[in-house]
Amino acid sequence: MSGKHYIGIDIGGSKIAIGLFGKDPGMLGKVVLPTCATEPFGHAFARMVPAIDRLCTGHGLGGMPDGIGIGCTGPVDVRRGLVRNPYTLPGWPDAPLVEAFASRYGCPVRLENDADTALIGELVSREECRKVKNALMLTFGTGVGSAVLRSGAILRGEDFSHPELGHLLVSEAVSSCYCGGSGCLESLASGPALHEAARELGFASLDEVFARPSGEARSRLVGAWALHVTRALWALVATLSPEVVLFGGGVADCLYPHAKDIITQGLSSGVFLPPTRVKKAMHGNDAGMVGAAALVSGLFPFS
Ligand SMILES: [Zn+2]
Repeated sequence: MSGKHYIGIDIGGSKIAIGLFGKDPGMLGKVVLPTCATEPFGHAFARMVPAIDRLCTGHGLGGMPDGIGIGCTGPVDVRRGLVRNPYTLPGWPDAPLVEAFASRYGCPVRLENDADTALIGELVSREECRKVKNALMLTFGTGVGSAVLRSGAILRGEDFSHPELGHLLVSEAVSSCYCGGSGCLESLASGPALHEAARELGFASLDEVFARPSGEARSRLVGAWALHVTRALWALVATLSPEVVLFGGGVADCLYPHAKDIITQGLSSGVFLPPTRVKKAMHGNDAGMVGAAALVSGLFPFS
């Protein structure tokens, strides 16, 4: 096989997904491994290396990859290439991800937060988004993740920190969150919050509510989710003027098709809000890998 090849790694609290890519975003092969996040990083690294080697040799690549991009559940220190995440990677304190892979493979290695790589993966995969300079992605799952592209670069805060837009306050409701706030988006619109709301309506789970074709419980859950999401988007669109907003994650897959019209209508009444394209993410769980590879393949040329 000719041409350059890149590895994209998406590290989550429970799974590590490794993809092999060529110059374009199409994936050539994929391996999924358990993270075993309470074990030392060296154990996971010892599983990842043979998986990368097998991916490369299995596709006729005798040599090393030409670059390795990593999207890791945050916080991460992107300048020093370290993990700073005692929450979901407790066994990896200050794990030197970039140094470990660069030493083993001798190629360029880059590390970013996994929400940022998911946004990059979505943008580089859509022809109509390749030239987008301002974009926002919200991912709804166990938590509410966020990523912002601002003037073509990943938006960072003090000390290169990653913005936590999932903790925007959107309600007067008393829904306490580990962030210290009450009424934040994550405490009302994440998977656990919706499962709790479903139980309060007499259902075993959110899935049980949506297993039925329609009903009052579903309308209430969709209406409340749409309201909270619209409030967050109102503030974010007014602040950031994104050309495109992407919704990802399993909860958005379930609720967004039903909430889309409510959200669109809510935003359309804002006379100062710029026109924004709102789309559902297309890559699902693979977006982080696609974006990670794009960090080193040149498809995403920004910092
Ligand atoms: Zn919060």
